[in-house]
Amino acid sequence: MIKKLLQRVFSKKDKPAKHETTQPNGRTKKRADTGAKSISNNTHGIDRRLLSNAAVKTTEGLQKAGFEAYVVGGAVRDLLLKRRPKDFDIATDATPEQVNRIFRRSRIIGRRFRLVHVIFGDETIEVSTFRGSHLGDTADNQVADSGRILRDNVFGNQEEDAVRRDFTANALYYDPATEDILDFHNGVADIQAGILKMIGDPVTRYREDPVRMLRAVRLSAKLGLKIDPATETPIPKLAELLSDVPPSRLFDEMLKLFLSGHAIQSAVQLRKHGLHHGLLPLLDVVLEQPIGAKFVNLALKNTDARVLAEKPVSPGFLFATLLWHEVLVAWQRYQKQGNRPIPALHMAMTEVTDIQAEKLAIHKRYSVTMKEIWGLQPRFEMRVGKRPFGLLEHPRFRAAYDFLLLRCESGEVEMELGEWWTKFAETHPEERLNLLKNVPPSNNAEPRTRRRRRRKPTA
Ligand code: ATP
Ligand code: MG
Repeated sequence: MIKKLLQRVFSKKDKPAKHETTQPNGRTKKRADTGAKSISNNTHGIDRRLLSNAAVKTTEGLQKAGFEAYVVGGAVRDLLLKRRPKDFDIATDATPEQVNRIFRRSRIIGRRFRLVHVIFGDETIEVSTFRGSHLGDTADNQVADSGRILRDNVFGNQEEDAVRRDFTANALYYDPATEDILDFHNGVADIQAGILKMIGDPVTRYREDPVRMLRAVRLSAKLGLKIDPATETPIPKLAELLSDVPPSRLFDEMLKLFLSGHAIQSAVQLRKHGLHHGLLPLLDVVLEQPIGAKFVNLALKNTDARVLAEKPVSPGFLFATLLWHEVLVAWQRYQKQGNRPIPALHMAMTEVTDIQAEKLAIHKRYSVTMKEIWGLQPRFEMRVGKRPFGLLEHPRFRAAYDFLLLRCESGEVEMELGEWWTKFAETHPEERLNLLKNVPPSNNAEPRTRRRRRRKPTA
């Protein structure tokens, strides 16, 4: 039994394939029959030193074991655009199990799309096996009636792998050993012309995976590429297909979109393409109310500035800002129905997060942060007694205070309130009592004092 298992594990099928690319002269002759252009370093000019060590070690490890391995996708595109890639993905003809066996610190992940994470210190390299055609319905490969691909795990060759990528700019394979790029769909020329173009028929490709519409918008905003007309035109008509996409995928994509450092531009583009309406309730309100738009624009500008300065950004804070105006509307409604302010706010918070959870699976840890930030807002108005001191000590004070400043800047609350809190937080502790004495009376929400019933005097 064990012998059989071992035989299966080390069967011929698993033996490393003959390496095709690392010939002594570094050329890639074998490629002529695949229809790919091999573009040498003299032409594309990528500086190999901009690759991370981990990416180079991964391709070297795979190539030494006899497999093909390339840096692929966004990293090659970004390097051609002279941008520093965020991360490096590798494509190979080795199966996930084979990759896993080569690298001690690696693990197979994913269900819809099985791939391997190879870990080097704090860097993780994603290695995926060349994928094949998704036509036909098998256990590894399922397509819904709408044309959406449900499972996509059939391995294929490199040419097939290139066809199933989304944009020509994303279907480039860079071999760090030869420094050549293999270009199956004219991606290098498109990048040089500043164009983002779908591979194949755009309508079919959007039906297969509607998230590609969001990717088109995000990548064009982030990279300053123009979406090719044939790629752009069908988007508004197909926008409603997004409602079919599992919420968790939508959430991941929204997070990428808003944390790209180009959130404002992305939001404008989403709106232009009709991708924000109804499908992403998050953005319905955001972009359609004057104060809401002002508040969100400030928040997104802030986020963009932080991302570009490589400062950390909190998704919980970001989503709290995107949803605040929905919370405000619901809060007022609950108060009009006769609820007291604080319980009304909590009802509004629950309502808004529940609605969003249906469409966008906002992770619990983010919704907890969001609710804390919102829930602390009324406490900024209570500038009497010990209350401000308690708020200052709250673990979420900083985030809630930053949120308050955005509310002030957008005109939703008096600037005076934000300025007072800035002084209060920054001043010497002994000075704080003085600040409290100077609170303008009209802006000072008194805590409700409970009337004590007078006890009847005992005899
Ligand atoms: P980013 O810079 O934001 O990471 P990216 O293009 O690298 O952009 P990833 O999500 O990291 O985006 O995807 C890596 C590669 O996988 C892409 O460049 C593309 O080739 C392919 N890909 C990703 N998503 C899709 C999709 N929905 N359909 C087809 N190919 C995709
Ligand atoms: Mg990427």
